[in-house]
Amino acid sequence: MKSNQILQDLKQKYPHEPEFIQAVEELLEDIAPMYDDNQTYQDLDILGRVTEPDRMFSFRINWEDDKGNIQVNRGWRVQFNNALGPYKGGIRFHPTVSPSVLKFLGFEQIFKNALTGLPMGGAKGGSDFDPKGKSDNEIRRFCYAFMRELAPYVGADMDIPAGDIGVGGREVNYMFAMYKNMSREFTGVLTGKGVGHGGSLIRTEATGFGLVYFLKNMLDTANDTITDKKVLISGAGNVASYAAKKVIELGGKVITLSDSVGTLHDAEGFSQEKIDWVIAQKASRKPLKDYVQKFGGEWLEGKRPWAIKADIALPCATQNEINATDAQNLVDNGVKYVAEGANMPSDADAISIFQNNNIIYSPGKASNAGGVAVSGLEMSQNSVRQYSSFETLDKQLQDIMKNIHDACVEYGTSDDGKIDYKKGANIAGFSRVADSLVNYGIL
Ligand code: NDP
Repeated sequence: MKSNQILQDLKQKYPHEPEFIQAVEELLEDIAPMYDDNQTYQDLDILGRVTEPDRMFSFRINWEDDKGNIQVNRGWRVQFNNALGPYKGGIRFHPTVSPSVLKFLGFEQIFKNALTGLPMGGAKGGSDFDPKGKSDNEIRRFCYAFMRELAPYVGADMDIPAGDIGVGGREVNYMFAMYKNMSREFTGVLTGKGVGHGGSLIRTEATGFGLVYFLKNMLDTANDTITDKKVLISGAGNVASYAAKKVIELGGKVITLSDSVGTLHDAEGFSQEKIDWVIAQKASRKPLKDYVQKFGGEWLEGKRPWAIKADIALPCATQNEINATDAQNLVDNGVKYVAEGANMPSDADAISIFQNNNIIYSPGKASNAGGVAVSGLEMSQNSVRQYSSFETLDKQLQDIMKNIHDACVEYGTSDDGKIDYKKGANIAGFSRVADSLVNYGIL
């Protein structure tokens, strides 16, 4: 079957999964010609197989709040594809989590993990639990309850979850503790653990640092530099904070961060100390806008960062946070590079605007792969029961991001020398998975 027919079938089958369909369309835009030319892929229905999760399940999570009331949430795990290695992908706690969101994230994760060159399949999971406004005790009880339900279906060689929005080191540690307790085994079943019990020394920094290493490769390739460039970053969580730290270290000027309430604009630029303050503020779940009282700058309530003059944009908050209007604002305000730290932060119209206006654009599945890459290294460390130093891991991360960048260039450069990073990432990632599926036959 040709790719277009498969897409039509998916649209009919899953009309209520817009994010998932968006992720499939975004891939097909680039791989369709190659796929429709490959009779073996079609005979083995590789696309039909790769767009349907191996399995997906949901479960009920009961937990007790601080007032002694029983709360009920829903949890899911999508084990999308394990052609290249055990299922691997984060867990998100956010009220917007739904089967469609998790399927889009799991689908992207297959190709992102393939791009790292490490043996990892694709998965994603989460819950509609909202950590906002919850006490530490409530979060701990919820994490225990979540893992009590998920534990039978994950394992160090089967499915290795990690963090994502609303799930950081603290939550991973609670989930790891419950798994360890239930299984009576100390194995690398989760990544992003505390360093004292098997975690990688650079996992916290990895996605943000990796994003900026990827950006640096893009700039080098364009004979440009990050020095003194004005950088817009959205989000104020894990990815945004460490991306900001690395940009500042390399001589760029970060002028925004944001959260779900608004945007923080500091025209003087954030310093490492200011970012440390933001990290501490978010960790204690206090408002980002308090920054203005302490350091100055302006708080733009209800606004995204994309209407501010700058050179580079790094969206690091969530999916579909840049639409056509935002993209046009970026173009009009002089932005030349967009590298995605979040998963699918730019919608399809925004991507077209970038591409039609010669913005050099890289998709999340390439530029944010540093997090899962270091997770892959954490899995290796746990298997051999050893630790690597920060410096060793940082070097490995830089090498992996360069390899991903170079694969995008190899598969995404057209005859006129123009590099389409999205096309390169999609073709390189898809081919690796598809070729393995071909080798497996029809299982
Ligand atoms: P965090 O929970 O640490 O931070 C998320 C940030 O995004 C917060 O500042 C949050 O604001 C903001 N945000 C969340 N939802 C929205 C929304 N609907 N509108 C505006 N802002 C929003 O998550 P991460 O930093 O870990 O993840 C950010 C993105 O990066 C996600 O797309 C994730 O999938 C992706 N990613 C993360 C990786 C990782 O290693 N952590 C790896 C690869 C990709 P508020 O606090 O107000 O909710």
